[in-house]
Amino acid sequence: EIRVRFAPSPTGPLHIGGARSALFNYLWARKNKGTFIVRSEDTDLERSSRESEHNILQALRWLDIQWNEGIEVGGEHGPYRQTDRLELYKDYQEKLLANGHAYYCYCTEEELEQERQSLIAKGETPRYLGKCRNLSAEQREAFEIEGRKPVIRFRVPEGQAIHISDKVRGDVVFDSNGIGDYVIVKSDGIPTYNFAVVVDDITMSITHVIRGEEHLSNTPRQVMIYQALGSPAPEFAHISLILNTEGGKMSKRDGDTAVIDYQQKGYLPEAIVNFIALLGWAPTGEEEFYTLDELAKEFSLDRVSKSPAVFDRHKLDYINSHYIKASSPERLAELAMPHLEELGMLPQDQRSVEQQQWLVSFIKAIAEKISYLAEVKDYIHYFHGDTPLEPQSDALEVLKGEQVPSVLAMFKEKLQGAEMLSAETVKVILKQMTKELKLGGKFVYMPVRIALTGQMHGPELYDIIPLLGLKNVLGRIGYTEE
Ligand code: GLU
Repeated sequence: EIRVRFAPSPTGPLHIGGARSALFNYLWARKNKGTFIVRSEDTDLERSSRESEHNILQALRWLDIQWNEGIEVGGEHGPYRQTDRLELYKDYQEKLLANGHAYYCYCTEEELEQERQSLIAKGETPRYLGKCRNLSAEQREAFEIEGRKPVIRFRVPEGQAIHISDKVRGDVVFDSNGIGDYVIVKSDGIPTYNFAVVVDDITMSITHVIRGEEHLSNTPRQVMIYQALGSPAPEFAHISLILNTEGGKMSKRDGDTAVIDYQQKGYLPEAIVNFIALLGWAPTGEEEFYTLDELAKEFSLDRVSKSPAVFDRHKLDYINSHYIKASSPERLAELAMPHLEELGMLPQDQRSVEQQQWLVSFIKAIAEKISYLAEVKDYIHYFHGDTPLEPQSDALEVLKGEQVPSVLAMFKEKLQGAEMLSAETVKVILKQMTKELKLGGKFVYMPVRIALTGQMHGPELYDIIPLLGLKNVLGRIGYTEE
């Protein structure tokens, strides 16, 4: 059985890169009818919080990346939070100490810093040279009496080539001599990542470790621990970094990096999933749009590229607008609410049926134009309010035309005479006006459009007018309802 896991450190929100790791694991499990586990690597006590853990899980659920086993879901291999597993790590730490693969180290910060500096001065890679490797019982006792609190280090075998056959990167070999004996348990008794992750992966029977390339250099350290414990290592697949369009590492400066940022801006979860699936994975065909179910059928690790993926916001917008067009106006209206509320519109407790209908029509009128729902804010002024909008300079010229006053006057009269302000009646009115005034369509439509919106381009007049309503339309063209 295939068993994979996503093991975030709850030190902040779920980032796009983390979401991609989670997704690839999830897809690989589904593709193989395996099990996807989510657990929490919270041994960095200072930086971890339950709040971050909760937020990460919420973001996964929002993306519909469901896990079969793990935190908040349960399962046979729990607990699924590292700080609840400390006893278990102790057992494994004792094993490693007993068979000589690990040892207590009493070096102080200052001693370690001195060693670092002298190695750097000699042009060598700073690493621990093994001063405490072979302490006698007496030496240990002396340190203990001094009150030093030891760490536990892994005894790295000398002169070993550590082979990793990575499903994405192929064969990767590390020389153990470049790796100093590393800490597996800190002086407060808390295991480090490289140790705890191995114990978790062994005890949870993980078959494939799919994670970001930034962990590749940790992998030989983990493989050595598997060997020392006599457990077979899982298969590894390190997925490439995500770069910005300039080829640099994605960072806060490139805009939003957390999944929640996109949720709040009104991106759709299925669009985010579709987009991140394509960050490093390539489908066999030309198709660009994939649902989770389709991805679960198509996904394979063979088609994960080892070259870096590029985070292209335009592509995300393109994919998101596809899903916006495919969504029901009711769903979009619901998602638009918080953005309109931000403008002080539509307070939660006053959502009348009329408002609902208005909102749905509004969304229908602009769904083709927006890439994400926060953009409704850029369109709302077309459809709401009675204050005339300042015409842009090119539009101002048009308004100076000599026909304009008679066009607007007739428009006002016909609107007031109309029984209902629907798209249909507006169409009829504008047509009649071209006939009666003997003007080309443009000479009728343009002044009306500019008077209503201040601009020569924008959403359809047939959509704008019914949504504005008579009072607002008249207000904008400079009349009041008599
Ligand atoms: N806690 C690690 C991270 O968030 C997990 C690495 C792993 O999957 O082994 O990057």
